[in-house]
Amino acid sequence: MSHSLPRKTANANLAATMIKQLQKRNMEGYYCATAKEAVDLALSLMPEGASITWGGSMTIQECGLMDAVRSANYELIDRATANTPEESRALYGRMVCADYFLMSTNAISMDGELVNIDGNANRVACLCCGPANVIVIAGMNKVAPDLQSAVLRARNVAAPTNTVRLDRKTPCAVTGRCSDCYSPDCICSQIVITRRSSIPNRIKVILVDEELGY
Ligand code: SF4
Repeated sequence: MSHSLPRKTANANLAATMIKQLQKRNMEGYYCATAKEAVDLALSLMPEGASITWGGSMTIQECGLMDAVRSANYELIDRATANTPEESRALYGRMVCADYFLMSTNAISMDGELVNIDGNANRVACLCCGPANVIVIAGMNKVAPDLQSAVLRARNVAAPTNTVRLDRKTPCAVTGRCSDCYSPDCICSQIVITRRSSIPNRIKVILVDEELGY
């Protein structure tokens, strides 16, 4: 989506502010005007031969990062290749030891806090601990003014859209808003706020001035 010049400038200013906030939280922030720039930047951060894995994310597909890593010289650890629960468990063991974990975020506050909701928790677990580096690609549509609005965004925008995408039988898939359910199909087992990283710059957040993901 192309923005007007004042909108682009405002987003660039906001991203610069957020990068400073991320720095205080031991996270490294970047800003790219386009998805293409974001993909090139992410590739430049990951040395050839590195092992790469990823969490479920529309953003990393939409922006072209998945196509790019698949056609580059990396060791890919793809949980979709598991055929049995045993293989899935073994692959997960390799995922947590990967050099790079790719994901987006369900929301990010203007103060730099990441908010992520997960049903099985593999994605948020890898965000919290395991892979040596985490690269988060986030369209500016994921930015919320403060932490409370970021949680509301994750619960009332990201999660209801994902339940529709995944064809889950949940109240939000019908009403479009969170009803704080405990349905068997609920995708909200974990709601994780990443306030800071204990390892400096392990988490790299690439803000992109495009609408990406939900
Ligand atoms: S808690 Fe239930 S209703 Fe709320 S967003 Fe998650 S799945 Fe939907």
